[in-house]
Amino acid sequence: MEHIVIIGNGVAGITAARHIRKLSDKKITIISAETEFFFSRTALMYVYMGHMKWDHLKPYEDWFWKKNRLELKTGYVSRVNPEANELEFDSGEKMGYDKLIVASGSISNKFGWPGQDLKGVQGLYSKQDLDMLEENAPDNKVCKRAVIVGGGLIGIEMVEMLRTRDIPVTFLVRESSFWDIVLPPGESDLINRHIREHHIDLRLNTNLKEILADENGRVRAVVLAETGEEIECSVVGLTPGVSPNIKFLEGSGIQLGRGVKVNRNLETNFKNIYAIGDCAEQHEAIGNRKPIEAVWYTARMMGEVVAQNICDNPMKYNPGNWFNSAKFLDIEYQNYGWVFPEPGEGEAHFYWEHKNGKKCINISYEKASRKFLGINNFGIRMRHEVFDGWLNEEKSVDYVIENLRKANFDSEFYDRHEEEIRNSFKETPKYKI
Ligand SMILES: Cc1cc2nc3c(=O)[nH]c(=O)nc-3n(C[C@H](O)[C@H](O)[C@H](O)COP(=O)(O)OP(=O)(O)OC[C@H]3O[C@@H](n4cnc5c(N)ncnc54)[C@H](O)[C@@H]3O)c2cc1C
Repeated sequence: MEHIVIIGNGVAGITAARHIRKLSDKKITIISAETEFFFSRTALMYVYMGHMKWDHLKPYEDWFWKKNRLELKTGYVSRVNPEANELEFDSGEKMGYDKLIVASGSISNKFGWPGQDLKGVQGLYSKQDLDMLEENAPDNKVCKRAVIVGGGLIGIEMVEMLRTRDIPVTFLVRESSFWDIVLPPGESDLINRHIREHHIDLRLNTNLKEILADENGRVRAVVLAETGEEIECSVVGLTPGVSPNIKFLEGSGIQLGRGVKVNRNLETNFKNIYAIGDCAEQHEAIGNRKPIEAVWYTARMMGEVVAQNICDNPMKYNPGNWFNSAKFLDIEYQNYGWVFPEPGEGEAHFYWEHKNGKKCINISYEKASRKFLGINNFGIRMRHEVFDGWLNEEKSVDYVIENLRKANFDSEFYDRHEEEIRNSFKETPKYKI
């Protein structure tokens, strides 16, 4: 019987395993160095915040794996030998495979800062990081202040987590406004204000220089690059993004770039080795998408596609229209289609903000053709399937504005702002045809 081995039990690896099982009787082994059972990484924060227990993060009961003949193996793969169809664990144990799926996810970035490996300095990626945070920052007596370095989605999650335990937080953001490499100025500034309203010491245009130790080798302060200021703290959260977790593949002959290089069928340069999820890098970017995308739903989609390819139903990875969602403290964010920080050549942005300063939308469109390109929603929940359809049908910005009500998530329970938005669009000369 063909043996499929999957390195990684994250959403990519587990989706692949479930779909291969649906389609075939092949022997399937899933390897993880992190946890015995699959869990929802995106909900890690809610355990620390007390909204969920660890077991709530497991989408499948523990008996699920045995019942579906999915063998789980705990161990760290330190080497892959494609010539011999064999991998090796750090224990020295070896395992053969007929087909291998690399679904090894990401690791938190570190940029060689002095003191980055001190006790009390950590990232937020794994179950081990969650346990470490519980130990490092159980309350505001043990952790008198935390400094979070890196203003992205994981950084702001870590800030929110610590604030729920009343731990004072300083948030160092290299950019001149929060996440302005992704968000246009209106949205970015709205979130700057929201962060400060939560009594978070947000420092924009600020880089970390070094992390200082106390006499026990624990962090005691950080030093800022621009001013030399020292900020006393008990915990430093390093959240300046993630990179594909592929170091263990170096020297294996599997083609690597920043990630594991794959074609649209998610095949590597070896016919029987595939890569999916955060660790995979497309040879050619798909449309405006980045060749590596560290998001949950694309990892799941790749898992489905690789299962088809492994079960002899050739299929290309086609992620469709870009979308994303997140939460910035109390403000929900959704993005459908492309809304770049600045409108591209021949494009325009229509920005509307509610007078309470906590809700806004930004619609991007082509000026000449009026084609709708994408929308950002902050504090107003709108339906994914509606915008996906409008993007596919290439609706105009005028159509979208007229029909916003159709996209409203729960019109009975949420305030409606469609009329105000429509009036703002129609009354502002620069948006007119
Ligand atoms: C705190 C946090 C919040 C997030 N929130 C969101 C969100 O709201 N929305 C969103 O879209 N995305 C979010 N993401 C990103 C999302 O979680 C990832 O895109 C997704 O989990 C990637 O899945 P994956 O299966 O590719 O990899 P992973 O989930 O990283 O799984 C890979 C697994 O492989 C194991 N592994 C790696 N190498 C080896 C080896 N050599 N031997 C054995 N095991 C190995 C790892 O330990 C890990 O368990 C978040 C990520 C984090 C860290």
